[in-house]
Amino acid sequence: MPTSSVENYLKAILHLHEEGVDRVSTTSIAEKVESTPASTSAMLAKLGVRGWLDHEPYHGVQLTAKGRRMAMEILRRHRLWERFLVDQLGFEWDQVHEIAEELEHVGSTELTNRLDAFLGFPKRDPHGDPIPGPNGRFRLVEARTLLAEAPRNIGLVVVGVVDGRDSFLRHLGVLGIELGTRIVVTARHAFDGSLNVRINDGAEEELLAPSVAERLWVDQSNPAPVIVFPESDNPDN
Ligand SMILES: [Zn+2]
Repeated sequence: MPTSSVENYLKAILHLHEEGVDRVSTTSIAEKVESTPASTSAMLAKLGVRGWLDHEPYHGVQLTAKGRRMAMEILRRHRLWERFLVDQLGFEWDQVHEIAEELEHVGSTELTNRLDAFLGFPKRDPHGDPIPGPNGRFRLVEARTLLAEAPRNIGLVVVGVVDGRDSFLRHLGVLGIELGTRIVVTARHAFDGSLNVRINDGAEEELLAPSVAERLWVDQSNPAPVIVFPESDNPDN
């Protein structure tokens, strides 16, 4: 059984791969797990011996198929627990990450599969990130765009956050933005990338900082239903 710190390393490397880094450097891993380069090197050597990492001196590391499966399993537990905490225990989405960091290390596959079934095989965690299925693959891969890059004057809906830090989620709360919030970008300012947006069909346009727009995933919303008010039969009304 891998220890929790081994698991954290695997997860950190998986995250860096997901961010598009093919071979991951020791320094970037050390930063991610908040450890020193020296102890990170020692850990990476250990993971290599177990066959979870492909380690090429001076070129960084890469998860092997076996290592990737292990990392996806951890991610699966983490995201399922977050779903459970929000859906079943009534936590807010900015309260669950730290708790899930601990729960993800409970390794029983039977428990994880039952939790998954209990929750109805959810596709996304409360932050909009995809949950891997028992086969270690994501159930859902869909086209989503960063709000910062989304087209203007089109109905968008918030489907995820890039940065799940509690402080960012709380800031979104202040702005009145959560998963499912509808946004229309009406203008994009070339100077700094800030946006004029209309939130949930509000009458007022609001200015959104680039730091927020770069951290929100959006998808095109289904066309809003056209509500036709029936004409009254009674001319006196
Ligand atoms: Zn989390």
